[in-house]
Amino acid sequence: MSQPQIARVALDVPLRTFFDYCVPDGQPLSASDIGYRVRVPFGRQQKIGILVELPAASNVALAQLRPLDSVLRDLPPLPADWFRLTEFCAAYYHAPLGQVMLSTLPAGLRATTAAKPRQRRQAAIVAAAQPAPELTAEQQASLAAIDTLAAGFNAYLLHGVTGSGKTEVYLRLIERALAGGRQSLLLVPEINLTPQLEARVAARFPTAGMVSLHSELGDAARTRNWRAALTGAARIVLGTRLAIFTPLPELGLIVVDEEHDVSFKQQDGIRYSARDLAVFRARQSAIPIVLGSATPSLESWANATADAGRGRYQLLTLHERAVEGARLPEVLRIDTRVDKTQDGLSGALLRAIEQRLERAEQSLIFLNRRGYAPVLACAACGWSSSCHRCAANLVLHLSDRRLRCHHCGFEARLPKACPTCGNQDLSPFGRGTQRLEAVLAERFPQARVVRVDRDSASSRKQWEALVERIRCGDADILVGTQMLAKGHDFPRLTLVGAVAPDAALFAADWRAPERLFAQLMQVAGRAGRADRPGQMLLQTQFPEHPLYAALARHDFQAFAALQLEERQQAGFPPYAYQAMLRAEAPQMADALRFLSVARACPLVEREQAVNFYDPVPMRLSRRASLERGQLLVESPSRRALQRFLTQWLPQLEAIKPPSRLRWHLEVDPLEF
Ligand code: ADP
Ligand code: ZN
Ligand code: ZN
Repeated sequence: MSQPQIARVALDVPLRTFFDYCVPDGQPLSASDIGYRVRVPFGRQQKIGILVELPAASNVALAQLRPLDSVLRDLPPLPADWFRLTEFCAAYYHAPLGQVMLSTLPAGLRATTAAKPRQRRQAAIVAAAQPAPELTAEQQASLAAIDTLAAGFNAYLLHGVTGSGKTEVYLRLIERALAGGRQSLLLVPEINLTPQLEARVAARFPTAGMVSLHSELGDAARTRNWRAALTGAARIVLGTRLAIFTPLPELGLIVVDEEHDVSFKQQDGIRYSARDLAVFRARQSAIPIVLGSATPSLESWANATADAGRGRYQLLTLHERAVEGARLPEVLRIDTRVDKTQDGLSGALLRAIEQRLERAEQSLIFLNRRGYAPVLACAACGWSSSCHRCAANLVLHLSDRRLRCHHCGFEARLPKACPTCGNQDLSPFGRGTQRLEAVLAERFPQARVVRVDRDSASSRKQWEALVERIRCGDADILVGTQMLAKGHDFPRLTLVGAVAPDAALFAADWRAPERLFAQLMQVAGRAGRADRPGQMLLQTQFPEHPLYAALARHDFQAFAALQLEERQQAGFPPYAYQAMLRAEAPQMADALRFLSVARACPLVEREQAVNFYDPVPMRLSRRASLERGQLLVESPSRRALQRFLTQWLPQLEAIKPPSRLRWHLEVDPLEF
């Protein structure tokens, strides 16, 4: 009797191991079957896995191996570079490889029952196929510098002010890749916010079979698009972070637009950075990658600037707006210690809005806080609306008369009276977009005020309808969160007011200034076109603050230099590498105890190149009834940190935590 063939299979289970099966007699598998999906028994269920290896021997006794059920050959096998990418992701983020592999597949390809194919939905937006514009000198220079012909890895940081024509540069690069018979992957932060880009790419390359991949796509569509990428039918893939895992057998170019955007970082499950994986993928595929932004992340900036001593990326700059005559908006700081605000609005801002109304132009009032007010309070007894499940306030949403927790989703009806003392006169404190909307509607009764935030534009459809309404001029004053800051061209918009940016200046999170600068720069960039210059009014009590001063000069470079210097002195990234161990449990003591045990692993004592902070409660110390603690680990060397984590993880997994405690490790954490 001959020995049965062994099939090693990756499965979506939280274990750092593959699973061996025996191959039924008469249906031997060959190396070319590696990368196919397979159906296997697992416990009492059936599971879909991926065939990763046909090993000569198994650690499991042959008699115990269960037979593989079937090999699914409905799709081409996953290519070798996809394996390398998922392997890297699992190794770098210390996640179980099987989970990484399976979680990157569309759900339809993971299901044991085949999904019904559905009718293809017609693309919502049909753009006029505009001809490509003649390139500006700066665009030409950037394109000339980007080497897409020589096979090989090259990373470019395209730093271009808002409206400088970065997208046009991407399109020309994609055109080159197409001509060379290669596929292109274009990653964008939130596809929801960029239907215009989708339309623009599809209009420019109508025969390239462009597909998009993002989380709002239905299962059937996602499977179909993913399949088109894998078979090579789609030459361009436009997607959000999850699209980094798309198998692309002829990939020739990766572009990451708005590369600084935090939404490239997955915040739960496998906490990967799609931007960082993109760089890895380009390197292993030996192809160019272009990271584009008006306000690059300081990590990328340090990689691209010689004075940081790195120069791993080549820096390309677009200083000027692309449209002839278009200038960057003027940024004026309104000192609210002098020009006191009323209902959050200074006299200068009110006058500026009035002027725009007279000229039939639009104003955008930017406030990154949704709801009516961040808290409802009772002046008589001091009660305030707080979430009983989180260490956070319940936000007042007056439009549907509810109190909502923005952290856990808890909501309650608006109380008629104070729940502790019965006082009927409860007052909202602070200001959110809904309140600002109400104030503006009252101040300017003749104006059409439109609010754009996650409440008013919760679906892509609502969002598209709002954007269309604004574009066609059926709105005078927009009140919006950062949702409105990104990538939109509103031709009549000439004024941006930032009403309360100061809080972020002194936030506990040391990355807050970087985000604030990026947000303000982006939202300012919405104002002004060639024929109508734009203006941003920034209400602040700290008009001399260096961040605002740099912003007023549109001087990202100066801002970045200041920040990098501070970070270097403090030993923060990008001058250090970090990992965060987080634990949550019903009792804070349990969470902190787990972290202390983790910190006391024998290994910790020996590792010289790694520094450990103390276990502490997280800033949002309770969320959804769980107390949360964190332990930060840091090293000046990425390699040392990785080496340590690789040894630490098995030790962590060996700790027996209290039953309701959960923990996870995040590499390169963004939020503190
Ligand atoms: P960015 O991505 O840098 O914000 P875009 O690529 O969206 O900029 O370009 C901003 C505007 O300038 C768009 O309306 C685009 O059509 C236009 N544009 C881009 N390049 C050129 C060019 N070379 N000549 C004229 N207009 C251009
Ligand atoms: Zn009260
Ligand atoms: Zn809550």
